[in-house]
Amino acid sequence: MKSVNRFMLVAALAMPFSGCAEGPEPNAVETISSAVVQSDTTKAHEPADPSEQKADEMPPEPAPTEYNELTNFEKYVILEKGTERAFVGEYTDLKDPGTYICRRCNAALYKSDDKFSSDCGWPSFDDKIEGAVEETPDEDGQRTEITCKNCGGHLGHVFLGERMTKKNTRHCVNSVSMKFIPAGKELPPVVKKPAESKPEEVPEQG
Ligand SMILES: [Zn+2]
Repeated sequence: MKSVNRFMLVAALAMPFSGCAEGPEPNAVETISSAVVQSDTTKAHEPADPSEQKADEMPPEPAPTEYNELTNFEKYVILEKGTERAFVGEYTDLKDPGTYICRRCNAALYKSDDKFSSDCGWPSFDDKIEGAVEETPDEDGQRTEITCKNCGGHLGHVFLGERMTKKNTRHCVNSVSMKFIPAGKELPPVVKKPAESKPEEVPEQG
């Protein structure tokens, strides 16, 4: 045991000296040069890394141009002017503070401040967010349809003169046409469809 220990001690003492005398060992050189190469690669790589560029300065996000995906039932109401059954919509009795936006395009339509209990079975508002809702008389003249001004999606109907509130107006809106954003939460960006591009002119033949 003792002799082994002594040998190891000698070997350990001898190694640093032999290292100094012979200069850097081949292995050490290799390690250094590969380290240099590696750091060079890293540097060359930095500007091209998109994730790092993003962190430096975020370019303003372009407005989305594709409407939100709709379920079949949402399509039925919003695109085909259907009506959900009374008293089953998710927002009929909701009284939380917040904003109701269009389910299809995110445009802000109604404020919870204007929502009231009408007992009609659908969310009811006696006012809309200015400029957000289009009112169009039905063909039969019986009712007035309300649609999202931004995307044209069907919301419901507006009734006047019912004396339910001081404003004497009731926007009767399908829950499924809207999405509720609680107060304090950021509204998602409104989807703006690019203006319909003109159909390419087809040269007349003949
Ligand atoms: Zn819309």
